[in-house]
Amino acid sequence: MSTKLTGRVIYANDPGWNDSRHGFAARFDYNDQQPQAIVFAQHAEDAVNAVRWARENKVPIRVRSGRHSYEGYSSLVKGGVILDVSELAGVSFDAETGHAVVGAGIDMLLLTEKLFDVGVTIPLATGPTVGLGGLCQGGGVGITTRLLGLTCDSVVDIEVVTAEGHLVHANEREHPDLYWAIRGGGGGNFGVVTAFKFKTHPISTVGIFNITYQWDDFVAIVDAWQKWAPFADWGLTSLISLHTDRTITIQGQYTASPQDMPKLGELLAPVLAIPPLSVQTMVVPALIGARITFGVDPANPTWAILQHDDMQLFKSTSAVATELFPMEAIQRIKDGLENVPPLSAPPSQPSMVQLLGGGGMASVPKWSDTAVFYRNALFIVQYDGYWTAPQDQQPTIDWVVNLRHSMLPFASGAYVNYVDSQLGPDWLEQYYGANLPRLKEIKKKYDPENFFSFPQSIPLG
Ligand SMILES: Cc1cc2nc3c(=O)[nH]c(=O)nc-3n(C[C@H](O)[C@H](O)[C@H](O)COP(=O)(O)OP(=O)(O)OC[C@H]3O[C@@H](n4cnc5c(N)ncnc54)[C@H](O)[C@@H]3O)c2cc1C
Repeated sequence: MSTKLTGRVIYANDPGWNDSRHGFAARFDYNDQQPQAIVFAQHAEDAVNAVRWARENKVPIRVRSGRHSYEGYSSLVKGGVILDVSELAGVSFDAETGHAVVGAGIDMLLLTEKLFDVGVTIPLATGPTVGLGGLCQGGGVGITTRLLGLTCDSVVDIEVVTAEGHLVHANEREHPDLYWAIRGGGGGNFGVVTAFKFKTHPISTVGIFNITYQWDDFVAIVDAWQKWAPFADWGLTSLISLHTDRTITIQGQYTASPQDMPKLGELLAPVLAIPPLSVQTMVVPALIGARITFGVDPANPTWAILQHDDMQLFKSTSAVATELFPMEAIQRIKDGLENVPPLSAPPSQPSMVQLLGGGGMASVPKWSDTAVFYRNALFIVQYDGYWTAPQDQQPTIDWVVNLRHSMLPFASGAYVNYVDSQLGPDWLEQYYGANLPRLKEIKKKYDPENFFSFPQSIPLG
């Protein structure tokens, strides 16, 4: 008997069809690459059926959680089927084991709120609408990374639909190779994740900070930050954002017990030694801290976000710094930011280079313990270009690509969650380093016909 699509299935001309097709990355033409159906799974069984149906009908499939793929990979599939798990968003917590089972499609804001309700957290991203499904499979970095590790480091079990359409669990005992690969190998490669089980971490109070500097202190503050952020107390994770509008911001979070919070001032001393323009520190309940970091209204967070109404014109890419930047590298970033192509209309936000501090718990696992290769990252470098007028698109994209290229002597490799179609022919090595051969073997074992395939999926050989 042939398989039927189940769940909330929508087709062209159904109400909501247009909204359902779009990804976060607005520079792609979602009209040009329309799927034939979008399945919003309501149960894991709907994902099983969608996989089987796509196989039987020889239709390409894309899997989607939060739609935040920088290259639109989860939404662009001409004539194919999009299997969207965003409605698999349940959270159940077992107070005895401290484990939480979480639907793979949940977004950061909802997940944070649900976990904080029971006094726990897991390491998550800083963007409120990012989906857990993509984030966790690529690693997952955020404001607690140095204390708790990457998102995928807290995963103890993965419920996943394989390319053959079987619902299996991957953990240390069952399918351990799949368990290894999904934690860092990048979404969309090995199966459809329907749920993750996490070990959780208690959380109560956090200290959040936001410090700004004048542009003239660019070199001094970037140098002070890089010598501090990856080596500071593990409770402290920070990022420095260097914008083309000549603003510099360090923001971050100190996650520790309420008794330790008075230490925050002392911990910030190395970056406060460069005279700041402004300093804001707040010790707040963790939930309020998270809402502020997400940029939503701390008193009334949910209404502020229209899910998937947040498309943006941008080009982003990344690299990994495993050694401190020499002055020449810092100067090169400054020159790059000062020479961003002029825009004919104001962008949604200024273009920027952002460095996110690594080390701490993120560097405890070995490069081969999970598929996340860059355990030795001192910081992840993100290059982001923004524009609004169509004529500004290509110059801004070129600027992003060229700036990353000019910095390659100092920061290379790439973070697979910041997918970039322009990394060059060795993009696989850039994402996965020495873990690539094992990832290909596991791909061959679990998906020998390359059913889960997209422009930057892991190939069979
Ligand atoms: C505004 C913004 C903020 C961000 N902030 C951070 C951050 O703080 N930290 C960080 O580490 N990253 C961050 N990212 C990057 C983010 O981690 C990646 O874009 C991630 O892939 C998004 O996952 P998603 O589920 O939202 O996206 P999707 O586009 O739905 O999926 C991304 C990839 O994973 C696959 N996939 C998704 N769900 C599943 C599933 N259930 N099973 C199998 N494959 C699946 C898709 O096919 C696609 O290839 C940010 C991105 C944006 C746009």
